[in-house]
Amino acid sequence: MQLTLDYARKKDSEDVLASFRKEFHIPVSNGKPSLYFCGNSLGLQPVNTKTYINRELEKWAELGVEGHFKTDTPWLNYQEDLKRITGTLVGASPSEIVIMNTLTVNIHMLLISFYKPTKTRFKILCEAGSFPSDLYALKSHARLHGFDPKDVVVEIKPKTGEHLIDIENILETIELHKNELALIWMGGMNYYTGQLFDMEKITKAGQDTGALVGFDLAHAAGNVSLELNKWNVDFATWCTYKYMNSGPGGIGAAYINEKHGSDPTVFRFAGWWGNKPETRFLMRDEFEPADGAAGWQVSTGQILVMAPLKASLDLFEKAGFARMRDKSIELTNFLQSCIESIAEKFKGINKVQIITPLKIEQRGAQLSISFGKHGKEIFTKLIEQGVIVDWREPAVIRIAPAPLYNSFEEVYRLSEVLENIMHAVHETHVNPEKIKMESVH
Ligand SMILES: *Cc1c(COP(=O)(O)O)cnc(C)c1O
Repeated sequence: MQLTLDYARKKDSEDVLASFRKEFHIPVSNGKPSLYFCGNSLGLQPVNTKTYINRELEKWAELGVEGHFKTDTPWLNYQEDLKRITGTLVGASPSEIVIMNTLTVNIHMLLISFYKPTKTRFKILCEAGSFPSDLYALKSHARLHGFDPKDVVVEIKPKTGEHLIDIENILETIELHKNELALIWMGGMNYYTGQLFDMEKITKAGQDTGALVGFDLAHAAGNVSLELNKWNVDFATWCTYKYMNSGPGGIGAAYINEKHGSDPTVFRFAGWWGNKPETRFLMRDEFEPADGAAGWQVSTGQILVMAPLKASLDLFEKAGFARMRDKSIELTNFLQSCIESIAEKFKGINKVQIITPLKIEQRGAQLSISFGKHGKEIFTKLIEQGVIVDWREPAVIRIAPAPLYNSFEEVYRLSEVLENIMHAVHETHVNPEKIKMESVH
């Protein structure tokens, strides 16, 4: 690998997925295409999205309520394709997937089913620094069951002074609380550090204590390869507007392991859409859950928000997820080398550190970068100069190249802009006395 524009262009010319970039709208900044590295927060809009939404608007215009049944793609079955493609992305059968609601709503729906505390087993383990919405949800379920959240939620913390949480740490914490553990609920990938956890090991260790194990896959789904069924994960949910490009507030998805999905006695909040399709429209008084994850859907399928997800997942399917992941690994490795070279140049001036794991099996597309000083100022200048990344309090810039629309050249350009900004910022902040002294010598 060479950190040059020529090398980056050569990589782009060899990239089998390069043609997918034109399938997306690239936002403009200062009159030019921006360098967009925020697919971990809001994925870009496929050019086709409008067509997909319009198709459903036209059906509605032409057919009204008949759109549910008549047409080649009746609304009644609109989910089926989405479940199939999503299943291949997360390693689940289509019947273990349901496309519904939004992420935090789904966390609540799943906790209702899978957080079943008793007087002695009531604790929930999660990673320290989890996403606030997840914590709020956990604490509200602790209160719902009459517990003080302080007694329920146990955070697995990194070793002092570190950002990442070792698997040993996680396993020790599970062991420590094994007799009181009801549930493990973690980010499969932490949103702040970008650390990807060993979900298979965590699931086994949690289940060995008698607890259930679920994951928030907001940062993992559509980003890294997952095998939820093989790992025997009990349940999971994620949003689709990050790596899966379904648009702001796009529809959420959930996975429920077949062993729970096929058990009609598992408690869930019931709604008519989760009733068996054969009896749903008989309008009976008693709820008969549909088999699989479908039994958790409470309301009518949300076609207009599923359409943009379909526009994007059809591109995923065309590209092939294995090829996407291969390119993603290379792009992020290239980004890592560019950042490390900047860190080296500014050694002693500013501590530039990648806090995301350097091992590829412990991360996805995103690198989180902390700065010894001026982090926020560097971030603001990146945005001003058309490099769209994000800042997460207290101290990191997150950069996530997405394999379908980002190029090696863009990664190289980002590193050029960042380096120039670092030079500018550090000249600005050099002590004037020091400049005087330097000019004397
Ligand atoms: C993005 C994200 C959310 C956002 O939840 P919404 O309900 O979609 O607003 C929640 N949890 C995690 C871990 C996230 O990364």
